[in-house]
Amino acid sequence: MAHFVIIGAGECGARAAFALREKGFDGEITLVGSEQHAPYERPLLSKAGLSSSVDPKFIAAHETYAAGNIRLLTGVTATGLDAEAHRITLSDGSHLTFDRLLLTTGASARGFPNAPAESSHIRSLRTHHDALTLRAMLQPGKRLAVIGGGFIGLEVAASARKLGADVVLIEGLERVLKRGVPEDIAQLVAERHRAEGVDLRCGASIEALSEQEGKAVIRLSPDETIEADLALVGIGARPNVELAEAAGLVIDNGVAVDDRLRTSAPDIFAAGDCCSFPLDIYGGRRVRLESWRNAQEQGTLAAANMLGADTPISAVPWFWSDQYDMVLQIAGLADGAVTHLRRDLGEGAFILFHLDAEGRLLAASGIGPGNAVARDIRLAEMLIAARAHPDPAALTASNVKLKTLLAA
Ligand code: FAD
Repeated sequence: MAHFVIIGAGECGARAAFALREKGFDGEITLVGSEQHAPYERPLLSKAGLSSSVDPKFIAAHETYAAGNIRLLTGVTATGLDAEAHRITLSDGSHLTFDRLLLTTGASARGFPNAPAESSHIRSLRTHHDALTLRAMLQPGKRLAVIGGGFIGLEVAASARKLGADVVLIEGLERVLKRGVPEDIAQLVAERHRAEGVDLRCGASIEALSEQEGKAVIRLSPDETIEADLALVGIGARPNVELAEAAGLVIDNGVAVDDRLRTSAPDIFAAGDCCSFPLDIYGGRRVRLESWRNAQEQGTLAAANMLGADTPISAVPWFWSDQYDMVLQIAGLADGAVTHLRRDLGEGAFILFHLDAEGRLLAASGIGPGNAVARDIRLAEMLIAARAHPDPAALTASNVKLKTLLAA
């Protein structure tokens, strides 16, 4: 009987395991994960998950794995991979052999240089365990210092304010969300955080971060230090490639895969946050995404291709972030855009359309309360997938339905 192994029990690995069964695979499936928990929803960790339950939100109940005849090994790390022999070594000393392997090892939070990586006062946020440590500090009278004005840092700042903690957020660049979000949106986000009481400091470089006498101490300059009960380091993530790299697979900002999610080794695929892949709709440009929907879609696609479907990647990148009642959504990749057109969608809601020199729609970024931008972003996504050159006047006229542009 064929044995398919998936290393990495996160969003992508879990989706791939279920997709294999949904697509009729009747061989053995083993899903191996380092964390003690069954796969859970990571995006909630910086949002509602910070103020609610003690358990993570599981992607599926334990019984669902059993019902699908999926062998789920938790608290076990794959420590060795012999690509040629199709053999994996696990941290408990056992071995697995596979016919096909999928690497969904995800990413890890970057630590702050020369600071303790996992202390009770300096922390990053990637796992449920991190969220529990963080949650204990988020209460009135406690002070949180967020290092980094990216999505995770800003979401945690918003959750912390809701829970009554004092928050200072330190960003080295001149504005928040410098990577991937246009200035107009970043400005709105920054204004809202300030209005909610976050002490937002942009353009502030940190000389040192340390732990002293039960506090996190951030030295900004010889005369200025900030003390906090907890410093949350939110300075990005790096792909978990150690296993693949040691096995000799090609690495290029992640495990390098082709447009079918195949790695450089036969019978080994990779998907989700850990891999970089070429995106045909952007001329084959190699990208690596850290996005929930990408992890889901690639999990499903990897399963299909492991079963021989030979289907290329075609999805348009999509990402969302929740902060207070604001929802930010981004479809596509804006790099290379020269024109940015604004479409207003009512109180506090707008979309920016990013077009290249030929007028092709490359990306759309929107912000607004609740679902205000969801429908138009969805339509923009379809226009991006269709490589459309929409009429600029129609894009900015909020009374013109984007659907009509799609038909055109
Ligand atoms: P992961 O979820 O990282 O799972 C990989 C798993 O593999 C991990 O459990 C890891 O422990 C395990 N593993 C690694 N190496 C090994 C090994 N050798 N052996 C066994 N197991 C191994 N995306 C959005 O689009 N919107 C959001 O609002 C959003 N919010 C987020 C908030 C937070 C706090 C975080 C951390 C992420 C957020 N994301 C968001 C990103 C999204 O969660 C990720 O893109 C998604 O989880 C990636 O799924 P994955 O399965 O590829 O990797």
